[in-house]
Amino acid sequence: MQDIDVYKLEILKYPNTKLKMISHTVDIISENTKALVEKMFETMYENNGVGLAAPQLGVLQRIIVLDPQTDEINTPYVLINPTIISHTDDLTELKEGCLSLPGLYLDISRPNEIVVEYMDINSEIQQLEATDFLAKIIQHEIDHLNGKLIIDHLSSLKKQLKIREYYKILKEKDEESKEKAMN
Ligand SMILES: [Zn+2]
Repeated sequence: MQDIDVYKLEILKYPNTKLKMISHTVDIISENTKALVEKMFETMYENNGVGLAAPQLGVLQRIIVLDPQTDEINTPYVLINPTIISHTDDLTELKEGCLSLPGLYLDISRPNEIVVEYMDINSEIQQLEATDFLAKIIQHEIDHLNGKLIIDHLSSLKKQLKIREYYKILKEKDEESKEKAMN
């Protein structure tokens, strides 16, 4: 595989079509993969995010990084080829935001406890039991690897409304930054 120039990568925003694509399994963790992971962490922290998936930077590889940054859990995680191998049936709702849909926050219902299997940065297979916030972030990021965004959890009518709201927020932000540029 050709090396990616990680320094050029930026967060893609909806409606970029790459956000709808299914990412590929990572076979080998190369030096370039490690550079990509580093860039993902950097981008996530810069934007005050708690998780980021490689396709959000336009790289269609099954890699996610996360760091809940709470008092209980403030460990950075890199999950390569993550798969949810089990989950509880009880769903809980959480207001979720997404760096690819800035300004939009939606109540999303997901299992509260999951077990995820993944490859770590040293190519070792690991299992992680996650609950609450951590479990939600992992599921949100795995959705990205499958081309799914938070708006795709909504009914089509509600989705249309939220997309309209999103474009309005984007327009306002754009006008704000233009104003700032003029001052
Ligand atoms: Zn997201």
